[in-house]
Amino acid sequence: MEKINNSDLINATRLLKRQIEAVKRLHESCGHRSPKRLINLKRLGRIKASNLPSHFLKEFKFECPVCLASSRKRKTPSRCGNGYRREKKKELSKWEMVYLDTSGKFSIRSARGFHYYSVFVDRKDGEKIVICHSKKAHLPVVFLQFVRRVGV
Ligand SMILES: [Zn+2]
Repeated sequence: MEKINNSDLINATRLLKRQIEAVKRLHESCGHRSPKRLINLKRLGRIKASNLPSHFLKEFKFECPVCLASSRKRKTPSRCGNGYRREKKKELSKWEMVYLDTSGKFSIRSARGFHYYSVFVDRKDGEKIVICHSKKAHLPVVFLQFVRRVGV
């Protein structure tokens, strides 16, 4: 059995420290990519890191303060889907904020002669109102129909 002496242990620790610093530098210089991505870049020959074997990168885990801060920002619980605050969504009254999407022109007319349809979606609870129309230019009339239907 081989005996590990103190100087070997010190050298191994120094090497590990150097490798950790090298991974951190590489991570920052490659735009804060994960060690897994760095392995791919290394495989593709885009980066040279002969002092960092792939198995070392694979098992390497460190907490980059920049990455932590940016991922925390993304997961803010007060924000929903498109960034509109949930609390504000609750404060909205019915049909106060609306999304509109118009589809068409459909080459085949509907039975009632329409080529387009517009969908109004209520931001508060997602209720939808669909209004069909035959021309794109009729959109102002569609708005008036929508206002009449919601009774504002
Ligand atoms: Zn980072």
